[in-house]
Amino acid sequence: MGCRARAAKAELLRVTVGSDADGHPAVVPDPEATAPGRGAHLHPTTECYELAVRRRAFARALRFAGKGPGLTSAPLAEHLGADI
Ligand SMILES: [Zn+2]
Repeated sequence: MGCRARAAKAELLRVTVGSDADGHPAVVPDPEATAPGRGAHLHPTTECYELAVRRRAFARALRFAGKGPGLTSAPLAEHLGADI
């Protein structure tokens, strides 16, 4: 996901669909890779994150088809220290 460069899973951060502080569906980091459900992997960098956002890759990779405001990736951005 993100830059699409191949990488070993150990170098990547797993993300899953969870909820943000307001209970809305959100992309959340799963650094221990223990959360249930479908996950996606990206480099734990703001560059890779921003590419994934620009490509709307999160909803696709996580097979998220919810209605309403959609999937926010703010919790992941915060985790990565991104400026979004
Ligand atoms: Zn990447």
